[in-house]
Amino acid sequence: LWQACLLQLQDQISPVDFSTWLRPLQADEESDNLMVLYASNQFVQKWVVDNYLDLITKLAAQFSRNAEFVVKVQVGSKPVKEAPATIEPVAAASIAAVSTEEAQPAYRSNLNVKHIFDNFVEGKSNQLARAVAQKVANNPGEQSANPLFLYGGTGLGKTHLLHAVGNGILAGNPKARVIYIHAERFMQEYVKALKADKMENFKKFYRTLDALLIDDIQFFAGKDGTQEEFFHIFNSLFESSRQIILTSDRYPKEIEKIEDRLKSRFGWGLSIAIEPPELETRVAILLKKAEEKKMQLPEEIAFFIGQKLRTNVRELEGALNRVHANAEFTGKAITIDFVREALKDMLALQDKLVTVDNIQKVVAEYYRIKVADLKSKSRSRSVARPRQLAMALSKELTNRSYPEIGKAFGDRDHTTVIHACRTIATLKEQDNNIQEDWSNLIRTLSA
Ligand code: ADP
Ligand code: MG
Repeated sequence: LWQACLLQLQDQISPVDFSTWLRPLQADEESDNLMVLYASNQFVQKWVVDNYLDLITKLAAQFSRNAEFVVKVQVGSKPVKEAPATIEPVAAASIAAVSTEEAQPAYRSNLNVKHIFDNFVEGKSNQLARAVAQKVANNPGEQSANPLFLYGGTGLGKTHLLHAVGNGILAGNPKARVIYIHAERFMQEYVKALKADKMENFKKFYRTLDALLIDDIQFFAGKDGTQEEFFHIFNSLFESSRQIILTSDRYPKEIEKIEDRLKSRFGWGLSIAIEPPELETRVAILLKKAEEKKMQLPEEIAFFIGQKLRTNVRELEGALNRVHANAEFTGKAITIDFVREALKDMLALQDKLVTVDNIQKVVAEYYRIKVADLKSKSRSRSVARPRQLAMALSKELTNRSYPEIGKAFGDRDHTTVIHACRTIATLKEQDNNIQEDWSNLIRTLSA
């Protein structure tokens, strides 16, 4: 019960307060309707009672499903019966605890144990990122991949991979001091430390880590103080071969309002993109997630959903949850029609978002030509190739048929569209530039 409360509390109060006041409490949960929390001294006891007792009582009542549940806070330590069970593999305390007699600041990793490599479905779009992440998890701190910089659009698995690396490092070395932290949270902690005159603790804390995992580093934009502090932490960790992993929604050089010296450091190791998953991977992800939920998902349905929802994995998961809930609730079999109905709004939105018109505009802009050129008879290469790409994208991203697409491109025959799709499919395999253009365009169109 106390464990469950702690998990909730952890999300509701600042990490420093959490580890200073709540984490060290010992819980005696012998009774069914009473929990006694032991504080090390009167001061702690009073602080906890004044600030957190109401919240804890509320949570305890909730978790025990007993509105009368009582929580008491006493000074002392829990009566020993047997060997006390260790609460978590990762001991927690805090930045604030640095000032105690411990040599190294204690910490909590913030890692989500559910995000591991095992449940990260591999596909072309994330293969490289996954492979490198795995390597870093096995050999953290190696210079060739330090820092590891993972970037890509939202919902593509960056955070998942980040946790997977952290969990992987800990699996190999349970004593490793690994921290996952979102850039925004890092910023808040920095500001807090500054205000509380605890900068020394803050610095020491981050500089004594074995691995620092910062998510969504683009949030550092415009935060000069945070960037300055992070710059020194980065240098210190890097010099002692500690692993740094960062994620961002874009390539390091493209992040705005981040100091150049930081951006250049982001590129010192490996920068790897995660692309939107292609159809095959989308289907595999759906099947995997369904299996995890013990949900019966026919392959053709996974295929149908995967074909319709193309932007990101989070969206796929959302759709699957929706279908699952609807099926459980109505007791109906999951058919295509059932899915169409359950996902009506999502599918409509998708159709509205990506139209042939829109694709033509984006492609024209990308290649700095005119939409009219795409519809023209011109066969000049600077126009013909973009036109083929736009046709292939229209096939991939909309539900338009070959004849319909042909019509939208200056009344061309459907065989021309088929030919364009084949050509682009081949070129994507052979020509890195085309592959890159394709990915960029898909990313832009599905953002
Ligand atoms: P990002 O941080 O890039 O926005 P997340 O890592 O939060 O994306 O991923 C969104 C959701 O999709 C998470 O629930 C994650 O577990 C899941 N997910 C993303 N990629 C994969 C994958 N390749 N296999 C399985 N689940 C994935
Ligand atoms: Mg994320």
